[in-house]
Amino acid sequence: MKDTINIRQTRDMFLFVAHKIVDSEQLLTEIDSKLGDGDHGFGMALGFKAVEKALGEREFSTVEDVFQEVGMTLLDTMGGASGVLFGTMFISGVAGKESHERADLALLAGIFRQALEALKKRGRARVGDKTMVDAFEPAVAGLEEGAAKAVSLEEGLALCAAGAKKGMEYTRECVARFGRAKSYGTRAIGLQDAGATSVWIIFQAMSDWASEHR
Ligand code: ADP
Ligand code: MG
Repeated sequence: MKDTINIRQTRDMFLFVAHKIVDSEQLLTEIDSKLGDGDHGFGMALGFKAVEKALGEREFSTVEDVFQEVGMTLLDTMGGASGVLFGTMFISGVAGKESHERADLALLAGIFRQALEALKKRGRARVGDKTMVDAFEPAVAGLEEGAAKAVSLEEGLALCAAGAKKGMEYTRECVARFGRAKSYGTRAIGLQDAGATSVWIIFQAMSDWASEHR
């Protein structure tokens, strides 16, 4: 494996992600207030404050353990539909996978691809339904493209974050087919999906961590 992060760096990367989500609470609240019930920022901040604590408190013996801890913590603390969805984003990707002491782009792409497919199966949303899937799918595609071209970890995560951003922006063009936003019909056009925004913040933070803090 060329250009990898070890277990401690994987933990540091997700700690950085957690700080970014906690810092974005107000933005996420504003976005979800326009289209949903306004609870998305609170839920995400609650979940990722718990992630900050959980990741800081223990040692991990594999990269997959770090993912598992993030996902289980979100599932346990966020509650509701989005707790399951964001828990799935981290837990389902490592289910049944062998353990690693280092992660490269291909490993990250494999984990997040499996998680995305599990999320789509669970929530039944597809690209264009104005959900977190709209940002998640192109983010995974960015990781896969990076892995296929064997670019550096920084470059691959930058492709991933750029994909997530495009997908997040694309949600403005869509009518919602899930959640509370569904009842808005075509009035949802022009408004951005909150869950897709969180997915972008997560991948953007991973990219920023890799380029600035590694
Ligand atoms: P709630 O919908 O319970 O208020 P949140 O506000 O925390 O929960 O999260 C809403 C986000 O969840 C939406 O912005 C959307 O991205 C995502 N979401 C909702 N339903 C689905 C689904 N079926 N599949 C994927 N994502 C979904
Ligand atoms: Mg909501």
